[in-house]
Parts: sequence; structure tokens; C-alpha cells
Amino acid sequence: MWSNLDSPVYFMNSFFDVIVIGVGSMGSSTCYHLAGRGCKVLGLEQFDIAHEFGAHAGQSRIIRKAYFENSDYVPLLERAYENWRSLEAETGTQVYFKTGLVYFGPPDQLLMKGVKESASLYNVALENVDHSSAAKRFPSFRIPAHFEILFEPEAGFVTPESAIRLFAQQATKKGADIRAKEKAVEWKQDGPQVVVTSDRGVYSCKKLVITAGPWAGKLIPTLANKLKITRQFVAWINPKKWNDFELGNFPCWLMTDEFSQGCYYGFPILNESEFGPPRGLKLAHHFRARQTDPDQVDRQITLEDEQDLNYVLDKYLPGCYESLLSYKVCLYANSPDEDFIIDKLPGYEEQVAVACGFSGHGFKFASVVGEILADLALDGKTKLPIGFLSAKRF
Ligand SMILES: Cc1cc2nc3c(=O)[nH]c(=O)nc-3n(C[C@H](O)[C@H](O)[C@H](O)COP(=O)(O)OP(=O)(O)OC[C@H]3O[C@@H](n4cnc5c(N)ncnc54)[C@H](O)[C@@H]3O)c2cc1C
Repeated sequence: MWSNLDSPVYFMNSFFDVIVIGVGSMGSSTCYHLAGRGCKVLGLEQFDIAHEFGAHAGQSRIIRKAYFENSDYVPLLERAYENWRSLEAETGTQVYFKTGLVYFGPPDQLLMKGVKESASLYNVALENVDHSSAAKRFPSFRIPAHFEILFEPEAGFVTPESAIRLFAQQATKKGADIRAKEKAVEWKQDGPQVVVTSDRGVYSCKKLVITAGPWAGKLIPTLANKLKITRQFVAWINPKKWNDFELGNFPCWLMTDEFSQGCYYGFPILNESEFGPPRGLKLAHHFRARQTDPDQVDRQITLEDEQDLNYVLDKYLPGCYESLLSYKVCLYANSPDEDFIIDKLPGYEEQVAVACGFSGHGFKFASVVGEILADLALDGKTKLPIGFLSAKRF
């Protein structure tokens, strides 16, 4: 297990090949890949290994390959799927659940056009669904006649908290030193090394990787005004016909319309005994919500959150809502163009790599981002195609 010390202990002059600041989605995978390559790794995490305060809480994250945002992500997704399967094989634990994903929306909107474009460029399996079949296959949805309907059979969801813990456990087994409840407060270059000061000690390393999610701007001042942190609301509801929405009976879904920003999406109900709490039918709105400081987040439900939830339920899942069971507020770290930043840090190219700005769509990539960051830290380059995610583009 990773250490979780209750009293301050100072590890002066402890030297590591690589230090990873932030052992969340991307950092846990990075520790895993680095430790697997035999180097001496320290991972520092300010909270627990998987927690409620950053970007990864909430049981499930959609994974899909017909990437509407930009087809350049598809080769990274191919690798991400492979790496999720390797983690499952190594640990005997399922983290990717294939449910299929139904997309619907006006055919001329970015979502539907982008899904078709990526699928055709990269041969991703994608079905056109006509309205009468949709009414039989997905009877809970009311889909307007002018909407297009598509189904991606290999899509589904991954389980974030469980995957993060598995990466951290496997990294620890391979020799990584992962410290929960230890916050990095400062890092600086010192000749060929980097010195990291935490609230418990001072460490040095040959290479530093920063995967601090919504807090990245606090550690990298040059990124602070580029990353906009937003407060995102997620709901779990009690549907009238529970059985219709359970895993196995209901797919993941993603839809857009002419009246709302972004898209709405949701998951099947996951059995609490296998997946943990909360219970219920999960759904959320993917858009750039209200900006916040990651250390001062309003985590209470607001009238706007309720109105937004009612909008999608009334219009597209009519008659389904019985009551609200649970909700969470989670954080997006948005880059200016909503594409990720994965690169060597400008000005510190020899020593520091960074991955941030995942803009609400990064978790599915965590398994490949760790591999890329391990490549950047150990080899100074990667074969995986990340040119479009350069830190210098802003
Ligand atoms: C509501 C919601 C729904 C989403 N849905 C999807 C989805 O369906 N599919 C998908 O692919 N993606 C989805 N995402 C996005 C995805 O979850 C994020 O892109 C991903 O979790 C970002 O990972 P990260 O490692 O950058 O951040 P995190 O997972 O938050 O990790 C950063 C870690 O760094 C730690 N840290 C920060 N500063 C310090 C410090 N100074 N010292 C020590 N530790 C530090 C933090 O505590 C945190 O644990 C969603 C996000 C949200 C909020």
C-alpha cells in the first residue's frame, strides 16, 4: 500500500529518478508506467488516492473512439483501449465496460458530424439507427424526428476511482513510493536536477512530471491564466422504471440539440455492491460551467443545476424522473481550445513534463497519457502522436 503518514516527516535529500506531482487520473498511470520501466519514482498526492475534490470522482467515465472533438485523438484512443485491457489482464479487475453508446442530435451539429468523420477516417464501428429501430432499442428516449441517431458498439465506460487505485497499487508493487495526503508546495530547477518541497519534506529528482489537474495553474504560473477551472454538476436520479436503466439494459448516451451549449450524457445504473455508491441513473451536462477556484468550490446544488437537469429529463427522457438520489460537483480544467496539453514544459524542456487542460474529456485517455509522460520523462520524446497537444500552441 502507499504511505499515508499522519505526522510530518522530513526526507531531506531523498533522490528520485522521477517525481510525479498529483496522483489522480494521469499521475497514477504515469507512476505505473514509470515504475514498470524500473525507475525510482515518487508520487505526491495532496488528498487520498482517488478522492472527491478534483476531476475524477463519480464512478464512471465514458470511453468512445469516434471522437467528435478531433479525429487526431483516435490513434491515442486505440492505444488507450489496449492499455486499459493490459491493466485488466495484469490485475484481474475489469475497468472498461462495453455498453455501447447512442448519439443523437441535429445532423449538422459538431457532435454528429465529428462522430461520423472520425469513424470513417479510422474505421471505427458505427451504426446508423433509424427512428423506428431506436424506439424499440432505446424506448426511454424521446428523440425528435429531425435528429440523426448513431450507435458506437465498442464504446462504454471506465471506472475512474477503481482504475486510479489499481494504477497506484501496481506502481507500488513495482517499487514506486506513492505518498497520499502530501502536498507539493514548490518546485524549482537546481542545475541538472529539480527540487520539490512538500508540506512534509524536500526531495530532488532528475525529471519532474506535473499532473496536478485543476491545480496545475497553481504549480505552473505560466499556465495559470490559460486554464479555466469550472464547477460541473452531476446527478444520480431514481427513475420510475429502475430495471429499464440497469447495466445490460441501457447504453451510455450523448446528445446535443439546437438550444443548449455542449452536450448532455449519461450512463446505465451501476450495481452499488460492485461499483460502490452513489446509486441511481447518472447524467450530466458537458459544457463550460461557472468558473471557480479549485480550493473554494461551491459543492451545493443550485437552482441552475436543477433547471438544467429538468430540461434534459423533461425533453429527452420524459416520464422517467421520480426523484433526485444524489449529486456531486466535480472540476474541469479547460484549456483555451479544449484540447489537452501534453508536452515538455516550455522553458524547462530538459527536466519537466506536464499534462493538464483535459477540459472534461480526459479520463478515457489516462491509460495512454501515463505511457506518454513516462516516454517524455525517460526518453525526452514519444512515438505516440501528441504534436497537436503541444504546450506552445497558446
Ligand atoms: C463531471 C465530470 C465528468 C467527466 N466525464 C468524463 C467522461 O465521461 N469521459 C472522460 O474521458 N472524461 C471525463 N471527465 C474528465 C476527466 O475526468 C478528467 O479529464 C480527468 O480526470 C483529468 O485528470 P487529471 O489527472 O488532470 O486530474 P485529477 O484526476 O483531478 O488529478 C489531479 C491530482 O493532482 C493532485 N494535486 C494537485 N495539486 C497537487 C499538489 N500541489 N500536491 C500533490 N497533489 C496535487 C490532486 O489532488 C488530484 O488528485 C469528466 C470530468 C468531470 C469533472
